[in-house]
Amino acid sequence: MANDGSQNTEFDIVVIGAGPAGVGVGIVLQKLGLNYVILERRSVAASFKKWPKETRLISPSFAGNSFQMPDLNAISIHSSPAYGLQTEHPSGEQYAKYLEDVAQHYELSVQDGIDVNKVRKENGSFIMETSDGEYRSRFVIWAGGEFQYPKEAAFEGDDLCIHYSKVTSFADLKGDDRIVIGAYESGFDSAYQLAKRGKKITLLDSADYMELITSDSSYSLSPFTRDRVNEIVDDISYHKQIRVEKVEVDEGKYTVTTTDGQTFTSGSEPINCTGFASSLSLVTDLFEFKGKYPLLTGSDESTITENLFLVGPQVKHGKALFCFIYKFRQRFAIVAERIATVTGLDPETINKVVQEYKARNFYLKNLSATGEEIEC
Ligand SMILES: Cc1cc2nc3c(=O)[nH]c(=O)nc-3n(C[C@H](O)[C@H](O)[C@H](O)COP(=O)(O)OP(=O)(O)OC[C@H]3O[C@@H](n4cnc5c(N)ncnc54)[C@H](O)[C@@H]3O)c2cc1C
Repeated sequence: MANDGSQNTEFDIVVIGAGPAGVGVGIVLQKLGLNYVILERRSVAASFKKWPKETRLISPSFAGNSFQMPDLNAISIHSSPAYGLQTEHPSGEQYAKYLEDVAQHYELSVQDGIDVNKVRKENGSFIMETSDGEYRSRFVIWAGGEFQYPKEAAFEGDDLCIHYSKVTSFADLKGDDRIVIGAYESGFDSAYQLAKRGKKITLLDSADYMELITSDSSYSLSPFTRDRVNEIVDDISYHKQIRVEKVEVDEGKYTVTTTDGQTFTSGSEPINCTGFASSLSLVTDLFEFKGKYPLLTGSDESTITENLFLVGPQVKHGKALFCFIYKFRQRFAIVAERIATVTGLDPETINKVVQEYKARNFYLKNLSATGEEIEC
């Protein structure tokens, strides 16, 4: 909604982004009765609306809510994509509908079409420079995600490739053969979708994801992907521990050269599945970083900018990476609890909401168990 000057632009809390992270934390703020707005550059669930048509969530949905075990893909304690959508692995379009339904059900305060370009802090207040003028707040919760920020300059000539996030449908990709660069979830998804359509696929894996198995689902292929890969692995040309140095094109022929000097050619542009950067690129000066991840307090607040919080897949504490919905949703109530406490909200109201979230496994503060190995 465009601001014609009559719209309020000052809030206690501004949440930036209305994906699962922004909507999920918004529900807790709403339950606490806090004054907030979610600013969204497009519309609720915009990233999911941009997924390739055939792509599905890898984590399964199952309505276990009534036994205190909420659906893995739920972002609120009383909702379930499995229940609402009647599918185990929702597509992007289906999951977007779930997020829209939830946002509507809780009557969240979302302002669509507001792109936040810059955030700065002056005299204790945040000032957001947006496509629709300035917004001000005492607290900011960053929930801009990763999907809309593809990794750039992963290798020389990556601009000659199509990035996974730009594929609207695998059915639209012409040509008989494709080179897929990167073999984690999106690389194997591309290989699967295209091999099923009879395309000749060359898949270049910088690691050895077929062999790698870990206890933590953040670091190895999901069972959903393995089931699908098993269907096509004998039909594709799969190369492990191979790193791409450059991509060149000459008269419509694409050549991919690897660091060990091998070359692969194709008549179609390669698909770049080397991953995503982060929306945090817009606020790097407000966080302190250790590698790719920002340093956060125990309440996911920036260690250098008071009252600035992060929710979503970039949250990392030690080795505990909260990159899945079932992981990062466990920090929504922690962030909201901290903000509510600082604003002086009465402890009874805070405690009531926090206890609800704790009872449903939606509140993970003690991270000592996150590195535990599975025994069998
Ligand atoms: C192919 C694929 C499959 C996946 N499968 C799973 C899965 O099975 N299970 C799972 O848990 N996770 C999965 N993930 C990861 C999951 O999608 C992300 O972790 C999740 O979307 C992150 O949520 P988010 O709200 O932080 O980001 P997003 O969903 O990207 O939402 C961010 C929102 O912020 C808005 N925004 C961004 N920048 C700005 C700005 N500057 N101003 C205003 N608004 C802005 C965007 O428009 C968007 O609506 C998958 C990801 C991909 C790519």
